[in-house]
Amino acid sequence: MNLKNFRFETDADGIALATWDSPGRSMNVITPEVMDELGRIIDKVAGDETIKGCVITSGKEAFSGGADLTMLQGLGAEYKRLVKAKGEEEAMRFFFEESRKLSLLYRRLETCGKPFAAAIHGVCLGGAFELALACHFRVLSDVDATRVGLPEIKVGLFPGAGGTQRVARLMQTGDALQMLFKGEQIRPLMAKNMGLVHAVASRDRIVETAKEWIRGGGKGIAPWDVQGFKLPSNKVYSPAGMQIWPPANAIYRRETHDNYPAAKAILQAVYEGLQLPMDRALTVESRYFAKILRSKEAAAMIRTLFVSMQELNKGARRPADVPPSKLRKVGVVGAGFMGAGIAYVTALAGMDVVLVDQTLEAAEKGKAYSHKLVSDQIMKGRAKTADRDALLARIRATADYADLKDCDLVIEAVFEDPKVKAEVIAKVEAVIRPRAIFASNTSTLPISGLAQSSARPKQFVGIHFFSPVEKMMLVEVIEGKKTGDRALAVALDYVRAIKKTPIVVNDARGFYANRCVMAYVREGHLMLMEGVPPAMVENVARQAGMPVGPLSLNDEVALDLALKILKATKAQVGPEAIDPAQEKLLVAMVEKEGRLGRKNRKGFYDYPENGPKRLWPGLAALQERKLDPDAIDVEELKQRFLVAQALEAARTVEEKVITDPREADVGSILGFGFAPFTGGTLSYIDGMGAAAFVELAKKLAKKHGDRFKPNRLLNRMARDGSTFYDAVARVAAAEAKKAA
Ligand code: NAD
Repeated sequence: MNLKNFRFETDADGIALATWDSPGRSMNVITPEVMDELGRIIDKVAGDETIKGCVITSGKEAFSGGADLTMLQGLGAEYKRLVKAKGEEEAMRFFFEESRKLSLLYRRLETCGKPFAAAIHGVCLGGAFELALACHFRVLSDVDATRVGLPEIKVGLFPGAGGTQRVARLMQTGDALQMLFKGEQIRPLMAKNMGLVHAVASRDRIVETAKEWIRGGGKGIAPWDVQGFKLPSNKVYSPAGMQIWPPANAIYRRETHDNYPAAKAILQAVYEGLQLPMDRALTVESRYFAKILRSKEAAAMIRTLFVSMQELNKGARRPADVPPSKLRKVGVVGAGFMGAGIAYVTALAGMDVVLVDQTLEAAEKGKAYSHKLVSDQIMKGRAKTADRDALLARIRATADYADLKDCDLVIEAVFEDPKVKAEVIAKVEAVIRPRAIFASNTSTLPISGLAQSSARPKQFVGIHFFSPVEKMMLVEVIEGKKTGDRALAVALDYVRAIKKTPIVVNDARGFYANRCVMAYVREGHLMLMEGVPPAMVENVARQAGMPVGPLSLNDEVALDLALKILKATKAQVGPEAIDPAQEKLLVAMVEKEGRLGRKNRKGFYDYPENGPKRLWPGLAALQERKLDPDAIDVEELKQRFLVAQALEAARTVEEKVITDPREADVGSILGFGFAPFTGGTLSYIDGMGAAAFVELAKKLAKKHGDRFKPNRLLNRMARDGSTFYDAVARVAAAEAKKAA
């Protein structure tokens, strides 16, 4: 067989081994060519009498990451072209047949009559795990890096190559739905306990274990194709089945607020599919898959959370002519809340860290945070004591700046005070090497201003983390006026090394993410002052797609910080830059009531020692008027939350703080959880079209004030019908032309 992506050989016992090893790629992905070759392997195994069965494994460090999502993107583009050329029906027929090819291929494997086994080491996700599920036997290597799962839901899709049907026939329906909704990566032992795989073996034994299964008479028939197969949770229309579906529906609503069509399609495909024989069930799944693949949510999420995120992670914004830097030692000055987290993620990535604070005790306290974080991981079985020892050995806590001398990069996270920062800059620059880069983690002070205290402003850059550092995946890299290309490149290399996603923003008050977040929180404050019940403010925000309500979020950040920023803005920009109602609320909360947020257990919520947080009942007294909840337009409240943030994002584009829409979108979802189903702040606008967005914003401005006024850029886009991504598409087309 002439195969490019697989090596195919048959042993003396007549057992074939197909080793998937696509040339020129670090990871196997499912492409049309791979599908074609797999089809030929199935035909060969099924048609050759001397072959007993086949084991599929990978020749790479991982099994496979799944289907090439850009291939699915291409299908969507072809569909749109066909609608114009041949009409909706013809386009839909094409789309349905194309989008179910993988599903039919896997079913062909499952029913070809010969036993197939998957021997898996490393990650095996999405379409690749669906391939494994179609095999009659699955064995995983017992190493930590091995993970299986169906993460499609995370990009607005669902497993459409048999995943929903096979998983729901392997385990209790409730467990299957949870697995499909969450899209988590599952470790080997857990996968075995869940019934997803048959065996776990050491890495060098997986292929042999699979072969033994075939040699031992393993059958090429799936359990569900055997006469008399019983569903793990019994029939859908049975007393046991009926215990499942009403709560499943409720959980779906609670978790998604009906914002994610893919999640609903999972419910539908499983509910309907379980009532049918496998082939029919797969057709039902395929119909839903074709529908979801065409949804605007899937298109937006694939673009932002897969394509753009990958491009940014690979250094789309990195100056190309600077050679890659390998950071060995990183200094962190200020071992407080942020510095301690930065030290941890840096050491976790294998770099040596020098953690400096004013006293050795303060530095040690910061280091202790790493001890706590790894210990938590050990408790959960995700790390070993040796990992902790190694990580802590990489962090040197000290009060002596001289210890920074051979660092490649130093990040300061000292008090947010220009004088303190200036002192620290001078002390650090006095000891570091001439080529070392200095970065500030400031959240409010302009980088160009801070760089004035630097003797080497070209090597000065902003690296802005979000809290908690170990959890938040976004980092804003800020270019000051004088920041040089090498400083930018080193900052991006560092962010890549700690496996976070960078966006490059220009230097302006609040940079990007915090500006949008502030617009969100302000909207919550203002609704409260208008008389919207506090619980409604919070719930409607979540219904709009935000992960936490604005009041809750403000409690986490601290109310006094919000007031401080408000006062600073008023002093520096002028009274018209702030909203008096918001100021009144924050002054009352902070200065009169002493409510600072979660940090003193008193904010918009009360935080009792034992028990969950509760909205503070005293809020009612701060509301001068109260609206009748039944008369409130919930849809409009939802729009206000999203439009306020999207408008702020559009302003950052006009002001050139953001220069690439991919960064605004990725940054908004990773940085502050902006309704992921929209694809991010700018995709939200593009998704409805600039004209419709401008009309909506103007309507809100008329009713609620000038903060909703669209800017010049949006008005122009509304007139000429352009989108934020038009420019990106133009550049991509030009590059493709050049490459051709
Ligand atoms: P923090 O008060 O918890 O920590 C500051 C630390 O700096 C303290 O441990 C202090 O002892 C130390 N320090 C002060 N002067 C020093 C000096 N001269 N030399 C060495 N150490 C010194 O503050 P934080 O919340 O960690 O914030 C630190 C920086 O990070 C600020 O610039 C802040 O704006 C920024 N930031 C904070 C957040 C957040 O959510 N807290 C988010 C992003 C950025």
